[in-house]
Amino acid sequence: MTDIKKNISNLKKIINSDTTIIAVSKKKPADLIEKAYENGILNFGENYLQEALAKISILKHLNISWHFIGKIQSNKCKEIAKNFNWVHTVDRYKVAKLLNDNCPLNKSINVLIQVNIDDEKSKNGINEGDIYSLAKKIISLPNLNLKGIMVIPKNTTDSKLTEVSFAKTKQIALELNKNFKGVNEISMGMSNDFELAIKNGSTMIRIGTGIFGERN
Ligand SMILES: *Cc1c(COP(=O)(O)O)cnc(C)c1O
Repeated sequence: MTDIKKNISNLKKIINSDTTIIAVSKKKPADLIEKAYENGILNFGENYLQEALAKISILKHLNISWHFIGKIQSNKCKEIAKNFNWVHTVDRYKVAKLLNDNCPLNKSINVLIQVNIDDEKSKNGINEGDIYSLAKKIISLPNLNLKGIMVIPKNTTDSKLTEVSFAKTKQIALELNKNFKGVNEISMGMSNDFELAIKNGSTMIRIGTGIFGERN
């Protein structure tokens, strides 16, 4: 049995208190999310809309901030806008516009631009050169708050390569912040590399396995 309480307290010992922990709960049931919540986790990340909606509904009595971190199809934007507080995977204007247009009254959605930091064909995310123009367009959408960028670096066991990607991400974030005030979040780092990510400026780490144990 995974000891969620212990995993969270160990994690909190390693990181400093201004790094946001996003517990990635994909494929994990609502009762385990509630367990993590009882142990001080307030932010949860989900990848698959239908699965997430079921859990969000069960857990609506809790004050959870829900983060959408999966691939976005435009026909899912309406439900994402209604049910999530953060969206990490905005990589085109069409999606930003749909989230904005479907945002309920009295709500705004925090968004991050997903950057394809290692230029991988298989990965979502915008290319570095197109970030500025997308950021400018997102800023003009009244229901969205542009908060920063998100990356998923190339999958490798060579931490030197990962660190190159992380360092590059930090530079991009600094540059963006010069142009857009308050745009300063970096969603970067998962169970295997979050310490390296924090060392390179990450402000939000996305931890699945490290909190909930292996996924089936
Ligand atoms: C699944 C997932 C994570 C969590 O990965 P772990 O290695 O289990 O910590 C983080 N970010 C994204 C985008 C994911 O899809």
